Amino acid sequence: MKYYSTRGKSFVNSTAEALLKGLADDGGLFIPEKIEKINFNEEEIERLDYTEFAYKVISTIFDDLDKEKLKTEIEAAYDTFPKDLLPIKNVDNLYFMELFHGKTRAFKDFALSLLPRLIKIAKEENKVDDKTLILTATSGDTGSAAISGFAGVKDSEIIVFYPTDGISLIQRAQMVNSGAENATAVAIEGNFDDAQSALKKIFNDSDFKEKLKSAKYMLTSANSINVGRLVPQIAYYFYSYYKLVKNKEIENGDSVAVTVPTGNFGNILAAYFAKEMGLPIEDFICASNKNNILEDFINTNIYDTHREFYKTNSPSMDILVSSNLERYLSLKSNNASEIESIMNDLKDTGKFEYKHDLNMHGYSCGEEETLEIIDKIYKKSGYVIDTHTAVAVKAAEEYLKENNKKVLIAATASPIKFAMEISKAIGLDLKDEKDAIEKVAKLSNDIEFLKQVDIKDGDEIVIEKENIKKFIEERILC
Ligand SMILES: *Cc1c(COP(=O)(O)O)cnc(C)c1O
Repeated sequence: MKYYSTRGKSFVNSTAEALLKGLADDGGLFIPEKIEKINFNEEEIERLDYTEFAYKVISTIFDDLDKEKLKTEIEAAYDTFPKDLLPIKNVDNLYFMELFHGKTRAFKDFALSLLPRLIKIAKEENKVDDKTLILTATSGDTGSAAISGFAGVKDSEIIVFYPTDGISLIQRAQMVNSGAENATAVAIEGNFDDAQSALKKIFNDSDFKEKLKSAKYMLTSANSINVGRLVPQIAYYFYSYYKLVKNKEIENGDSVAVTVPTGNFGNILAAYFAKEMGLPIEDFICASNKNNILEDFINTNIYDTHREFYKTNSPSMDILVSSNLERYLSLKSNNASEIESIMNDLKDTGKFEYKHDLNMHGYSCGEEETLEIIDKIYKKSGYVIDTHTAVAVKAAEEYLKENNKKVLIAATASPIKFAMEISKAIGLDLKDEKDAIEKVAKLSNDIEFLKQVDIKDGDEIVIEKENIKKFIEERILC
């Protein structure tokens, strides 16, 4: 597979190269040159397990990676999941795709359990024997899932940067107390966008990359700009859809809507790829929290970052600059110079206008409302959802006022990860955060989790965002 950059000035000739580079040389993001349709026949729908669905989807795009290796690595990656790795819960017209049964209890485990293995294959194919240095900005869940995915992986070193505030006790514990020798978690004074833009600069800093190169390090990212994050996520939409077919909730071919609580736009973009690959998803519902820049963009075609930034109770969506949006805009307009120009506008003025139809529904949900929805669903059905998923429910409800369709909801995190908020929402009596975690774990039938994570504060490393580069140099190059 060949991949071109959204900004049109560079391309790579293989999946291996796209995986290893992360970001294109012109600062754009890689898009596969062609997106082929696939389908699953009745017998396959009945018989295939998750890894077989994933293999068929992933190998359609990563068609130039060694087939046997790819298959083996997919199997090994999802071996870390429980047997029923993606249960679907139904409440009214809503179908919750529980994407959070991986090790760190967020949907990101689906991609980040596989990414290190994809990088391993890519390094073998390109005969790279430099060590991999993974740098990642996180609002909480990426960092823990990335550390869990890369922990103990040979010849790789991972450093994650998270904002000092706005992440939960569990998220911090998963990063700071991972016990992995090749992993470092660093708190940045600032918000997620500060960490993300500082890292983007480093990825575009050729002098710095040269320095790393001479120290035999190859720089890559575990953020969702990497095609190795995006492509594995496409698979779960296929799997979930056909699971509904198999369970006779829908007929094969019925169109559905998908609602995704959105931050960096990676997960909803994967749903769009699934549609491009033939899955009958008719409507895309992009759900935002109080940081509703995407809702405004979908409704006005103007993306404007000049606004207040809120730290909310759905912190993984506290983002003002959604990196993967660029890919979506590029697929919709198919005009690289236009994308380059609006991305320059964004960089220079913090704002841009997009002149094509976005074909998406956008809604947002405030913090109080998020808690009310958690409580409402719990009272109605006994089902406990997390804050991000609740934001998606609100968006789906808005959509259903004017449409009548079955809605797949990406349930992106286990309620345990945001136990304090959940407890507040449903009115649990608590001693402290740890107590909340235990109670919510019981309510969501996941006491297993308590045995796996060392839930304590741990020692934090805190630096200022201006010092990220210096920190990396001291850690890696000395
Ligand atoms: C990362 C994350 C999101 C946002 O996903 P994107 O792919 O960045 O849009 C939503 N919910 C949770 C729980 C997350 O961890």
